[in-house]
Amino acid sequence: MKKTLLLAGLTIVFIGSAVAQNSTQQDIENAYKSSIDPSSFKTHLQRLTERPHVAGSENNKMVQDYIYNIMDKATFKVEQYPYDVYIPATPGVSLIEIVTPKRQTLTQQEDILKEDPFSSDTDLWKGWNSFSGSGDVTAEVVYVNYGTREDFQELQTLGISVAGKIVLARYGKNFRGYKAKFSELNGAAGLIIYTDPKDNGYATGLTYPEGPYFNESTIQRGSLLTVDYTGDPLTPYEPALPLKGKKKVKRLDPSKVGLHTIPVLPISYGEAQKIMQQMQGDPVPAAWQGGLPFTYRIQGGTDLKLRIKVDQPINYTPVANIVGTLKGAEFPDEWIILGCHFDAWGFGATDPNSGTAMLLSLSESLGRLAAKGYRPKRSIMVAHWDAEEHGVIGSSEWVEQMGEVLGAKAVAYMNFDGGVSGKNFGASASPTLKQLIIDASKSVNYPYNDQTLYEFWKQPEAAQVNIGNLGGGSDHIAFYMHVGVPSLSAGAGGPTPYHSNYDSFHYYSTFVDPEFKMGPTIEHLAGLMALRLSNKTIIDYDINRYAIDLKTHFSNATNKVKSIAPDFVGFLFSQEALLSLEKASKELSLSLNMQKEYDVPVKNMKAINAQLIALEKSFIEDEGMDYGAWYRSLYASTDPFSGYASWMLPGIEYEVALKRSENLGAWDIRYASAIDRLTAKMNDLNSYLSSFDGGVF
Ligand SMILES: [Zn+2]
Repeated sequence: MKKTLLLAGLTIVFIGSAVAQNSTQQDIENAYKSSIDPSSFKTHLQRLTERPHVAGSENNKMVQDYIYNIMDKATFKVEQYPYDVYIPATPGVSLIEIVTPKRQTLTQQEDILKEDPFSSDTDLWKGWNSFSGSGDVTAEVVYVNYGTREDFQELQTLGISVAGKIVLARYGKNFRGYKAKFSELNGAAGLIIYTDPKDNGYATGLTYPEGPYFNESTIQRGSLLTVDYTGDPLTPYEPALPLKGKKKVKRLDPSKVGLHTIPVLPISYGEAQKIMQQMQGDPVPAAWQGGLPFTYRIQGGTDLKLRIKVDQPINYTPVANIVGTLKGAEFPDEWIILGCHFDAWGFGATDPNSGTAMLLSLSESLGRLAAKGYRPKRSIMVAHWDAEEHGVIGSSEWVEQMGEVLGAKAVAYMNFDGGVSGKNFGASASPTLKQLIIDASKSVNYPYNDQTLYEFWKQPEAAQVNIGNLGGGSDHIAFYMHVGVPSLSAGAGGPTPYHSNYDSFHYYSTFVDPEFKMGPTIEHLAGLMALRLSNKTIIDYDINRYAIDLKTHFSNATNKVKSIAPDFVGFLFSQEALLSLEKASKELSLSLNMQKEYDVPVKNMKAINAQLIALEKSFIEDEGMDYGAWYRSLYASTDPFSGYASWMLPGIEYEVALKRSENLGAWDIRYASAIDRLTAKMNDLNSYLSSFDGGVF
């Protein structure tokens, strides 16, 4: 039978069943909204952040237990996934000293403040960077601005060497691990990293405890791990299962994975000032000037000697993820996964546990909803990751442990790291999930005015909301870039005491959200996204978005390539492949929209959904990226030179970064093949759907 005839004949049936289906989902969403307990977020946040809880610490085990119990009470089936990962469990011993002209030891920990009772907790540690090398060096100092690749190139142009020197870099622009990597590559003996007040401090606003910005003692902690994969440094591709467990996992030799060797320590701008105001060298290029009240200089000069000492043992450390599952009623083997890590550098009130508290409250709400009979069709899993702060470790090990199963079953991964850290809203996503966030944000009220979250999010003059492309920096990395699970990251943001000892419940209730209304708001949004993804019989991916986004990415890539190769004619094979993709996705989405109205047998639905889940894998290739084969996605990657920025079409981005044009033709072919794979999958699914015409239904 011809499709047009079929359509005409079924129009009336369509309307009837569509209304019934929508009202059911609307009922569920209303029931979900009313099952949210608006006080629960605050309760959990307070309990989770009672004590500092770095990965591997006793306090962090208590946080694990708390999470386990709440998830269990919320009627999720809870599992613990333990690993022995190779990380420093404590800062070890450290010292920063001005040796000459006048000996002075610099302070490495935040001031105790009478306004903030948390600031005197005896379990708080001094500032440290995990995966620092160990050593004790005394040397002259050189200021290197942000310590980016470009900054070190600039120093070379100026004829200034950092060899044998202690390098002083400010936080910002790139992942701190690259500051260490580039310092080391340029022969530096040690590295001190500080937060400049121009970037976060009195130049950006009132400082803590009077305001939310870094004060003269605030220190950003953080990992320096920069291996060419994500997760445990000794077990790329494999889960770092417990050493005493049944299954033995081969570990790499720690001396061969390229961990940093120079000592690295973070300090505050108050302490950095004590060094910088004694420097005697050339004034810095204008862009390198920060916010301290004097002209910055590049060299310290021979009179100014610093000493930096770090003895930081790195060893096998037990960590564990907690993953709860609310089993789906119809498609239990299709998984919607929401996650956030729980380990912190201190109390972790904004980063990460505002996300944890939201997910715990959400789990309770979904549990109550299921008890009322509204069990989701697909399984909803809520994952709490350990050891994210040391290098996105817990989630990566879990993804490696689940392997192919995860690729076949996971419909989406949604990350909420520090997901309720302010009153603004932002999101980024892989193409198929962008519309999901946009639509859900229209059904959520912003709590501090009469707008919807969508209206609040959208700039008044903009045609649409600004939704980002997903890059690096958190627990979605392995899902999205290693396995190809469509992923998103969303949440509320604002100024935070990032990775400092001041990230406490006191700070949160004073500056982040004193009324605690953003927690339930993000919980509402996250729950709606999970319920919509889990209850639509056909997974609700926006498959047209691939072609739309890819066009933008290729046009951006072409412009970047022209800056290094002006004669470049463009990615012709990929452009052509995109035309077919656009056509295929339009046809498929039409068929899918029709199909949604039928009463499709469950076994066929499963096949359709399996094919939809497989679409994103078109961009996954074992060969991976030239800068690290673990990064298997041709679509998106973290920028290997900065760590945080997103790279779209990373194979091409890397060539541009290296200013190479000879491989671009080969990349064009690789990209065209990936797009063709996606197109072929769409066409296959489309013919599978049309095979039912006039038959099964
Ligand atoms: Zn975090």
